[in-house]
Amino acid sequence: MSRPLDPERRRFLRGTGAALLGASALPACSLVTQRGNSSPPERFEGRLVVSTWNFGMAANAAAWSALQSGVPHPVYAAAAGARVPEADPAVTSVGYGGSPNAKGVMELDACVMRGDNLACGGVAGLRGFAHPVSVALDVMDHTPHVLLVGEGAGEFAASRGHEQRDLLSAEAAARYAKWQTKQERPAPIDDHDTIGLITLDNGHFGMAVTTSGWAFKLPGRVGDSPIIGAGGYCDNEAGACVATGTGEEMIRHVAAFAVVEQMRNGLSAKQAAVAVLARIRRNFRARDMNTMVALLAVDTSGGVAGVCTTKNFEFAVHDEDHGGVLHPGEHLAP
Ligand code: ASP
Repeated sequence: MSRPLDPERRRFLRGTGAALLGASALPACSLVTQRGNSSPPERFEGRLVVSTWNFGMAANAAAWSALQSGVPHPVYAAAAGARVPEADPAVTSVGYGGSPNAKGVMELDACVMRGDNLACGGVAGLRGFAHPVSVALDVMDHTPHVLLVGEGAGEFAASRGHEQRDLLSAEAAARYAKWQTKQERPAPIDDHDTIGLITLDNGHFGMAVTTSGWAFKLPGRVGDSPIIGAGGYCDNEAGACVATGTGEEMIRHVAAFAVVEQMRNGLSAKQAAVAVLARIRRNFRARDMNTMVALLAVDTSGGVAGVCTTKNFEFAVHDEDHGGVLHPGEHLAP
């Protein structure tokens, strides 16, 4: 993790699987505004970049410069932003310096999508390449496929000349060694944070997601982040959504697609994200589980919403009028 876990989140996660919360006992899903910075304006005008977590601030700045410099499509700006935390070892959940799997090997997931024609690409379980998001772009632009995994993804990345790198930083190796000394070694459900970026320029959406996934995951585990519709989705006609948190929940609910479809049906970004998040929470509670899931959505009117099942979510927004601002997420009332 690139930031300390706040005590509330710790308490919440410690309760994982403990409480028996039947779906029938669920309260109405109102939102509680989180402490800290203020909520974003009702809607943004013009160009926009949004992304998950505090490390989204630096990523957004890079994506914003790329938009300003006139990339052929906003998806390339989203990818330019995603490359920032991929290269930053201080971000311990993305790219170099992220967390390895249970065998100490880094396996990275990423995807990209454009909202004008639904072109998209992804890589899962990619080993040894510095920028999985760039490989995902190449899957989109230079193959007839959507998702490449493991060895094949690596061969493709090498064939396209992508930068190879030992992704295990000294700090990540130390975290892994510490985890190995524990007697019981469940993969910590709270130890992951994906960056998902949405770019919007003149009605055109782009999207990029990249992560090292669930820390100390089973080798071969694939999360939501490389899966179009689960970890991210965009369509100029409806809106865009990216997700972070326990990816298994996003896959079960095809979460990003579900949010975009709700916006297609006329809901705002906030209404759509809340509706889908409530459904996700109802179902994981029905499995006697508690976990962190956050959805970040942008609608076609420039409405932005970041909602989460816990109180620690933050998202970064960059636009012409406000520059870069970090906003607190909103969480579903208990
Ligand atoms: N969604 C990512 C995964 O499950 C991790 C995260 O965003 O926290 O791989």
